[in-house]
Amino acid sequence: MTTTYNVHDEVALITLVNPPVNGLNWQTRQQCLIHLEQALGDPHIKAIVLTGEGKAFCGGADIKEFGTPKALQEPNLHTLITAFENADKPIVAALHSVVMGGGLELSLACHYRVSAPGCQIALPEVKLGLIPGAGGTQRLPRVLGVEVALNMIVSGEPILSERLNMVPAQKLFDKMATSAEDLIPEALDFAREISTDRPLPRVRDLSLKHPQADAYFQFAKNMVKNSPQAKNLPAPLKAIEAIRQATLLPFAQGLAFERETFLNLMWTPESRALRHLFGAQRNAAKVADLDKDTPIKNIQTVGIVGSGTMGGGIAMNFLMAGLPVTLLDTSQEALDKGVLTLTQNFEDRVKKGKLKAEKLQSMLKALSTTVHYADLSHCDLIIEAVFEDLAVKEKVFKALDACAKQGAILATNTSTLDVNAIASFTQRPGDVLGMHFFSPANVMKLLEVVRAEKTSKEVLASVMSVAKKIKKIAVVSGVCDGFIGNRMIEQYSRQAGFLLEEGCSPAQIDQALERFGFAMGPFRMSDLAGNDIGWAIRKRRYIERPEMKYSPMGDLICVLGRFGQKTGAGWYDYKSGKRDAIHSPLVEKLLEDYRTEHGLKKRNVTDDEIVQRLVFSLVNEGAKILEEGIASKSSDIDMVYITGYGFPIFRGGPMHYAQEFGLLNVVGAMKRFAQNPKDDAQFWQPAERLLSLAKEGRAFSEA
Ligand code: NAD
Repeated sequence: MTTTYNVHDEVALITLVNPPVNGLNWQTRQQCLIHLEQALGDPHIKAIVLTGEGKAFCGGADIKEFGTPKALQEPNLHTLITAFENADKPIVAALHSVVMGGGLELSLACHYRVSAPGCQIALPEVKLGLIPGAGGTQRLPRVLGVEVALNMIVSGEPILSERLNMVPAQKLFDKMATSAEDLIPEALDFAREISTDRPLPRVRDLSLKHPQADAYFQFAKNMVKNSPQAKNLPAPLKAIEAIRQATLLPFAQGLAFERETFLNLMWTPESRALRHLFGAQRNAAKVADLDKDTPIKNIQTVGIVGSGTMGGGIAMNFLMAGLPVTLLDTSQEALDKGVLTLTQNFEDRVKKGKLKAEKLQSMLKALSTTVHYADLSHCDLIIEAVFEDLAVKEKVFKALDACAKQGAILATNTSTLDVNAIASFTQRPGDVLGMHFFSPANVMKLLEVVRAEKTSKEVLASVMSVAKKIKKIAVVSGVCDGFIGNRMIEQYSRQAGFLLEEGCSPAQIDQALERFGFAMGPFRMSDLAGNDIGWAIRKRRYIERPEMKYSPMGDLICVLGRFGQKTGAGWYDYKSGKRDAIHSPLVEKLLEDYRTEHGLKKRNVTDDEIVQRLVFSLVNEGAKILEEGIASKSSDIDMVYITGYGFPIFRGGPMHYAQEFGLLNVVGAMKRFAQNPKDDAQFWQPAERLLSLAKEGRAFSEA
């Protein structure tokens, strides 16, 4: 039963019961319509109240049905909405908690709306690359005015009912309930009061005008076109156009315009990418062999070893989530430095109005520091973030093994070291795993949770759960050099180096990638992160693995001390205090000299080739990562790249992009690149997984 029907003194109460958010899937729509007809056909019923049980009035359409015949199967959302709007008995929507998407659209087809306080109201379809498709662009402006509705639809962000109730002359709410508990009795009373009122008010009959429509819509389009959030996404501009049409066309024609726009957007690659990512984010939290009954440890206190760049950032996450943190370092001086940086970061947030001063005080009270391991003995979770050196990690983990209480989780933030080896330094390898945060750790959403050979299910499930608490997107990775993200980026960086040797300039490569949608190309990114970091890794890596060819140009600029923005010079030049990348004649000459010295012939490389070579290097390594079981789903790899590496959201991540491109086409392009005399044919050897899926015409997501 996804809808219930009850009668309260001549008023029918229809309740959506489809947890978690009463999504309007086919079964729910069908039952809702049956109950509506029951109420309309019963002569004792004078009015109807529609509400939702549990955590939401209604969260909207069922995204799983999108693009499938089920979404159109009768009764579809349109049929349901029309039946509500055309009902000859008054219908009151009793809104609470969450009223979003199709849920809000359904309520706009009711004759009256009563809202509980604290209700989150939104039309979030743009976040899936769509516009509202069931009347939202036509009805919401009629009750809130063009400007408020446009902001809501273009941003997709929720707004509190109390705030919307303050919109001048708003017609969204007919009444605000005293409290969430009083909502249903007050909505039933309200329904009785208006039960004989006729004609029944319909939102569609309200007139809609804007005094300076032409100028306003032009202004709105210009704003959206230039905003970074809407760049490369067609839906926000289309939403503005649909609202503009609402001011020009009769309601039915406006609705038809909205419908056609919605259906066209549904087939755009951008919407497919965003819908893929919506599912990918939910699925990242699901680990195949962890069932719902896996016990979860209660993590209430956190210890962090190492108060440097990462330790301080990691501490901020837990403090913001309300968990007390003890920081340990080798000296009070190091601790003071760490606490000072952390406090300054928090104070910056206070200055920007993102954090309340009182909250800062309470967080600082919850932070303690120590140089003694015994002071970590009460911690439920201890995260190590000391120097990237196995011998140092060994010392730390042996000390943690000796001091940590039984059952405490011991995590390492290592980027490159073997988590199995680190676990083996303790007598409790089942309690050890990797928590690979990204820098800045208080800002970056991604957390790679590295599952070592002996990590227990309980420990893994507990860390996935605490990740949610600190608002991270956690993706599980197996143990390998670089885990998912850095292992793939290494191939991307190698390719970028080869492109320099073939005659590209850093700016040409960066701009090609930026036009593809990356926030920054590889060289601007490296200048920002510090070229010395990659240099240090290469020194170690390519001594260990001499078979891996790479271009030494990055080493040459490091020899000159050009570490990037922090030294005022890297692949580009920088003016003091500025971040604008300026062409460097010195780097240009350095690259020319290198090519001459090594007899490398410069050739013209197209933007398409640049993008494909860099992106397909990610894809091929991603396929190997899947093959080896380091990542269990291709969508996890996409999440890593979207949340940790600035891969363009509207492309859906490297693996999704490859599928859209066609895996057979990817393999074909790789074969062409392998013929390039400069390139390592070995590099472009397609991964088994990629090759077999391409041959079988299957997708990564199906393997
Ligand atoms: P950092 O040099 O900024 O900080 C390291 C801290 O550890 C220092 O405060 C140091 O005093 C302390 N320390 C060293 N030895 C110690 C010991 N035996 N006991 C206690 N404290 C000790 O380094 P970081 O950039 O914060 O990196 C820390 C770890 O995080 C490394 O494993 C690194 O690979 C990893 N990591 C770094 C980044 C990044 O971008 N910086 C990103 C992800 C992961």
